[in-house]
Amino acid sequence: MKILVVNCGSSSLKYQLIDMDNEQWIAKGVCERIKVDGTIKGSTADGRSFENDNAPMNDHTQAFSYVMKALTQGECKVIDDISEIDAVGHRVVQGGWLFNKAELVDDSVVEGIRELCDLAPLHNPAHIQGIEGCFSVFGKDVPQVCVFDNAYHSTMPDEAKVFGVPYELTEKYHCIRYGAHGTSHKYIAAEVARMMGRDDLKLVSCHIGNGASITAIENGVVRDTSMGLTPLDGFIMGTRSGSLDPSVVTYLQEKEGWSPKETSEILNKKFGVLGISGVSSDERDIQKAVTEGNERALLSRKIQRYQIRKFIGSYVAALDGVDAIAFAAGIAENTPSLREDVCNHLSFLGIKIDEAVNNATFGETKKISTDDSKVAVFVIATNEELMIARETKQIVEKL
Ligand code: ADP
Repeated sequence: MKILVVNCGSSSLKYQLIDMDNEQWIAKGVCERIKVDGTIKGSTADGRSFENDNAPMNDHTQAFSYVMKALTQGECKVIDDISEIDAVGHRVVQGGWLFNKAELVDDSVVEGIRELCDLAPLHNPAHIQGIEGCFSVFGKDVPQVCVFDNAYHSTMPDEAKVFGVPYELTEKYHCIRYGAHGTSHKYIAAEVARMMGRDDLKLVSCHIGNGASITAIENGVVRDTSMGLTPLDGFIMGTRSGSLDPSVVTYLQEKEGWSPKETSEILNKKFGVLGISGVSSDERDIQKAVTEGNERALLSRKIQRYQIRKFIGSYVAALDGVDAIAFAAGIAENTPSLREDVCNHLSFLGIKIDEAVNNATFGETKKISTDDSKVAVFVIATNEELMIARETKQIVEKL
């Protein structure tokens, strides 16, 4: 079975064609600058690649037609005909109060995603265009499945979900913690259970990329997660604020004259590591700046690592114990010093990191704690695309 996984961002569309017989990817790529001008680049597992900087695309539906061309024609052709694709799995950022599991796409699912656009104004409209792009290419012959980023978190108890907001408003606007990165945390939990040979685990899962979240998981079920109504909550990220005293927001709004829309844009795009350092949102640029002695880059790093440690500590309390901690995504998979810094300050939990293994682990799944560590610590090479393809397969097989 071949499954095409589609991930529509606000101005990008990432794709990956996966052979589910061996769970290996066959081809992948990304369309960028959608609605601006349009570029597409891609590669194949057997080492071919292409790049087209002149690919005008007005929306994700048009971007999708470039993807189909890339898979069936030219230097990165991997299939003769689109009929070789058995199903499409879409990553959907916000399933809100309407979806708590993956769903086969039909008109009511599309309407539901539309209804939730207020909660994910950049992403949900793009997902709908991606789905429409698929319908225009495949008609109704190829099943499409939506895998929602918040679905895995829907099991959280009310005390973790409900904010200190008047309950009438919570109910009226469905204003609760939904979380995000659920597909990644689910993959991480499954990998840790596989590595430890048991799934009755108290796990703190840290997905730390440009966007970042930490999740408390018990026996495979989410108990709490750091992202909230939207991905802004939690700890500082590349460009997002993370949790703030709410009066910081109203105070700055008044002082700077920001409208609610501007405030949301600024909190999402100009705060966090970028805002503190004034250098960049990208961890590699921060590493370079820290080496060059840039004080604000160093401050942003210290804040990020301190906040991660605080979240882990609070989730150990939420879980009343911890068996394993996992680090995943772009920054945590590739930055041994972050893992060491965070874990060395959690020594009261009996955590011991194997320094040599930690320093040699980049982007691969590995245990980095010593055998006598009281808590097992892992780096997990997270794979959201594969998880989406697995959930898509599960639904499609039953049709
Ligand atoms: P997202 O999916 O949220 O965009 P990723 O999980 O791809 O995020 O992570 C992107 C982050 O990972 C960037 O800050 C980038 O600098 C960092 N990163 C990627 N590769 C490395 C590396 N080799 N060393 C350090 N940081 C890295």
